[in-house]
This record gives sequence, structure tokens and C-alpha cells, in this order.
Amino acid sequence: MQLWKECKKLLRSLVFPDVCIHCHQPIITKDAIADDIYHHAMAAFVCENCIKDFQAGHDIKCSRCGEAAIENTHSQTCHACEKYQNSFDKVRFVGLYQGTYKQLIHLYKFKNKRQLAKPFAYLLGQKLVSCHDYFPIDIIAPVPLHISRLRERGFNQSLLILWQWRDYLSKIEPKLLIRTRSTQSQINLTRSQRMINMISVFQLNPEFLVEGKRILLVDDVYTTGATVNGCAQELINAGAKCVNVLTLARA
Ligand SMILES: [Zn+2]
Ligand SMILES: [Zn+2]
Repeated sequence: MQLWKECKKLLRSLVFPDVCIHCHQPIITKDAIADDIYHHAMAAFVCENCIKDFQAGHDIKCSRCGEAAIENTHSQTCHACEKYQNSFDKVRFVGLYQGTYKQLIHLYKFKNKRQLAKPFAYLLGQKLVSCHDYFPIDIIAPVPLHISRLRERGFNQSLLILWQWRDYLSKIEPKLLIRTRSTQSQINLTRSQRMINMISVFQLNPEFLVEGKRILLVDDVYTTGATVNGCAQELINAGAKCVNVLTLARA
């Protein structure tokens, strides 16, 4: 039986070879035993060559946002976290927003490669279970898209990932926050400009009470924190006990 299964798999791979979603080369070692979480998640989607440049994070980093350099060696937090007093407690992320990993997030968000929701969900889930200080969690919510962006893309990239988290389905609230207006692309804005751009963009859905709740916010990429801070501010103002953030990547 096992032999027959192996033969079928071999025949299938000869007729329909699996190719890397990034470079389109055949994936040769997709059944190889993966030695780390990223390999394990991505082995069926990305070739060995493209997997190699993944970086989980910095060696020395801010305990709140994960930023690489901590200017003041006596402090556990970076200059930006001390200066801006974000409304969220902590940010944890799967990997750095660079190389192939960055391209994969682009393919997922902008080229409709929705099959990547599954490995991304696995990676985020593994990250979450390692964040002991995030538990217990009362509510899990994605950063919402404005309705116009949602129509254009067809899906909320964070929510599609969250639906894969079978163990947490009862805690997921896709409509906890409402994005009241579409914000311009923030790529070329400074942190202060982004913060201003985000003022009153998010509103708590009046159907929900968050008083005393511990909330996990999920987003794809953390850049300056302006977006998740806008969400967290609204939740904290409404009485939430704490807001922690989990993202696929950190820019
Ligand atoms: Zn490749
Ligand atoms: Zn920081």
C-alpha cells in the first residue's frame, strides 16, 4: 500500500512537477525533513534556494517592538518605543521583511496567491504559542481593511490567515474594528506623518464590548507601528485591558 502511494506520488510529480511560487523552478526536496519551522511551513511552496534567505529576527532587539538596535544599553526598549508611548504592549513577528519572504508576502497580498495563507497561518500560530506573555487571549482580531480596499483585493490578508487557526476560531472577531476611511499608501511617509494619517481611522464596532479584555491584533507587516497603534488606541480607550500584536514580518 505504502509502495503504491509512493508510486502515485512519483507519477504525479513527473506529470505535474511542483514549482517554486517565487522563482518557478521545480521543488525537488519538498518531502525532505524540515529542520526548522520556516522550512517546514514553506517546503511545499518554495524551493530550497528561495527558502535560504529567510531571517527570523535580530539578535539584540527591543523587548516591545523587536527593533534591532537599542541605543541605550541600560534600557530594554528602543528609542522609538520610549518616545512614542504606543497603546499596544508588544509586537512579535515571524521574520524580517526582506528577500524572498518579502516577495512571498507581496505575492500573497497583491498577486492573489491565497494558497500561502496556510503556511503563513502555521508560521504565525507557531510564533503565537511561543509568546507566553500573550495568554490568556479573549479576542483575536485582524487589522481591518477599508471597504474600498477589500473590494479591490477581494480578501483581508490577515483574516484569511486567521481562519486557518482552527483552535482559536471562537475567539476571532473579524468585525471588532471598522476602518472608517481609506488611508493613502504610507510607504513614503515619516513616522510622525503616519501617526497623523492614522488618527481616528479605526473605530470599535458598537456591537462589541472590550472592557477588561485581552486582545491580540494580527497584521501582515509591522513598519513604524502607526497602523496597529491606531487600532490599539481605540481599543484601550474603550477599556481593553491590553493589546498585543502579531505580524508576519517586521520591516
Ligand atoms: Zn525558488
Ligand atoms: Zn521598540
